[in-house]
Amino acid sequence: MVLHNITRLEDNQAPLQIEEFPMPVPKAKEILVKVSVCGVCHTELDEIEGRTPPPGFPIILGHQVVGTVEKLGERTTRFKTGDRVGIAWIHSACGECTHCRSGNDNLCDQFQATGRDAHGGYAEYTTVSEDYAFPIPELFSDLDAAPLLCAGTIGYRSLRLTNMKDGDTLGLVGFGASAHLVIQMARHRYPHSRIFAFARTEGERAFARELGAAWAGGIDEKPPEKMNCAIDTTPVWKPIVEALGNLAPGGRLVINAIRKEDADKDSLLKLQYPHHLWHEKEIKSVANVARTDVSEFLQLAAEIPIKPEVQTFKLEEANTALLELKRSKIRGAKVLIL
Ligand SMILES: [Zn+2]
Ligand SMILES: [Zn+2]
Repeated sequence: MVLHNITRLEDNQAPLQIEEFPMPVPKAKEILVKVSVCGVCHTELDEIEGRTPPPGFPIILGHQVVGTVEKLGERTTRFKTGDRVGIAWIHSACGECTHCRSGNDNLCDQFQATGRDAHGGYAEYTTVSEDYAFPIPELFSDLDAAPLLCAGTIGYRSLRLTNMKDGDTLGLVGFGASAHLVIQMARHRYPHSRIFAFARTEGERAFARELGAAWAGGIDEKPPEKMNCAIDTTPVWKPIVEALGNLAPGGRLVINAIRKEDADKDSLLKLQYPHHLWHEKEIKSVANVARTDVSEFLQLAAEIPIKPEVQTFKLEEANTALLELKRSKIRGAKVLIL
């Protein structure tokens, strides 16, 4: 399923087209992967609508790829044919800059994203450097593994960046693909913490309670106590203002979004310094995922074990899945089956 140009989903409900591409050939150090499933991520909407545009077209989107190694390029050593691997948002980085050397290759100037800067997993086959392919713990089916690769790993990085300690209160602002995995991680790691979920629909709030949220309410409702940390996964601005108002002194809000949409940007004018920012409140964004986030998180996910809620689509239904995501019809994560 191929994207040919930037377009708005409201005007064009079939931005991707099914096409035949030549079989990709793995270069040195690369592997050819036969794709089994690929998760659908909100970032694909940001790519299609031009908020984080691919540098060239046509491009095959998709960065939560699970498949098996079909062919090895020259000088590969890590995998053999038939091995099951996952591919995440990080497709490559320079490996030499200060960010890369400190384990933050997600911040590298030369960061390349799967399904944006290189072809991704909305296809039967794809290639990746063996250094950026991840073995999948046996416990997970292909379907369960797909959402772990982005929604899960970025959630893991977000949770890490909150600096949360056991006993701290955590707010999850927006309750979609990532938050439903973060709540499972947070409950495992911080058993004495109370978690509050903010979501637009009653369905999402009920789902949050099922997964152990101590409280679930609407975006502009007040939680039962102030929050030491919060993770925002919404595409808009109003929830940020609300979340800052609900932070405890010294609290930190982590924004897990690659881009925000402009529609309600004027909500920011409601920011009142004494109420929303004073008392040493912090805002931190989370950018991409590092290679170590993916491998550490896959291990943690198997140890808990995390159980993703998955809704499946055929590859040729990718446009439907994207449209449902745009319209916020979310329970868990959407995955394409090849
Ligand atoms: Zn993603
Ligand atoms: Zn680098």
